[in-house]
Amino acid sequence: MKRVISFFLIPIFFLLAGCGASQAQEQFFTMDTVMSITVYGKGAEQAASAARQEVESLNDLLSRTDPDSLISQLNAHAGDGTAVEMDQDTLELLSFAKSVSQLLPGCFDITIAPVMDAWGFTGEDRHVPDDDTLAAAMALVDSDKLLVDEDAGTARLEEAGMAVDLGAIAKGYAASRAEAVLREAGVSSALLDLGRNITVIGPKTDGTAWRVGVADPDDDSQYLCVLSLEDVTLSTSGGYERWFEENGVRYHHIIDPKTGYPADSGLKSVTVVSQNHLLADALSTTLFVAGEEDALDFWRSRDDFELVLCTNDGRVIITEGLENGSEFTGEELGYVCEIARR
Ligand code: AMP
Ligand code: MG
Repeated sequence: MKRVISFFLIPIFFLLAGCGASQAQEQFFTMDTVMSITVYGKGAEQAASAARQEVESLNDLLSRTDPDSLISQLNAHAGDGTAVEMDQDTLELLSFAKSVSQLLPGCFDITIAPVMDAWGFTGEDRHVPDDDTLAAAMALVDSDKLLVDEDAGTARLEEAGMAVDLGAIAKGYAASRAEAVLREAGVSSALLDLGRNITVIGPKTDGTAWRVGVADPDDDSQYLCVLSLEDVTLSTSGGYERWFEENGVRYHHIIDPKTGYPADSGLKSVTVVSQNHLLADALSTTLFVAGEEDALDFWRSRDDFELVLCTNDGRVIITEGLENGSEFTGEELGYVCEIARR
């Protein structure tokens, strides 16, 4: 972490010799992760800075640990009958999250917060909760009891102790807003790395596609495959991102709302590629909980995303929409590649 802190917050701006094209990069820490936004072309510096400000301001709205955020206010009034005033974008985000809970029932629920707390994932004291604590927390998970009234501009949590945690979608949402800021500024080539949420705008300045690696869950300096992408976002969820060990067992931060325990669906990681940032982020979490079979069935029922699944038994499953332009690099790491067809 020290190494990271030493270089974030330093905007870098320089001119590429000869062609007059410029590049600007912002690196910063927010939403509990290191982010970088790299923009190419005229006005790159201002655009990158505006996109960064957009992401940081969303953290102020959506963070559960910042007591002044809108989400903290919603959580603070859980069960007391107060309908908390929200801005329209946050209301839409909450409604979207509720709709994702219906897509694959029992896999995704933003009212998972009390369970995250029971495991200590909100702070530093991570531990396996005792059965009573976990049962009490699980009784509070139900996004049907998160009432969103878009006409009145309010949201309300029905039961005392309930709380919302937007960790599964906040970065995807931030990516969509940051991209909008960049496009508004006329940017046609950029790379946004918002912590396992990568967005590419346009092709690279030389007209070729961006090459984005999907990390090996066991060693994120290595890649399972490299994808050639333009104008798309890529979101990865995996049990390897945030975890602790107790009595020799590893426990990670993506919770199966059916059990209250870290999801154990046979997958090491799920990468969703889509033009819809929010969908990509929500689905990477949801499909990680759902497991291979349900994830692929769900993919077959839609046409707005593609997948790279990494299974516990050493397979990398790439859906057919990514077949052209993907390069499997996991062989040396001991993986075999499968292409999933519709
Ligand atoms: P991601 O890295 O996008 O998969 O999001 C993981 C984060 O989402 C966790 O750190 C929690 O804040 C939250 N979370 C964990 N499990 C769930 C779940 N089943 N549904 C919704 N959010 C979850
Ligand atoms: Mg997610």
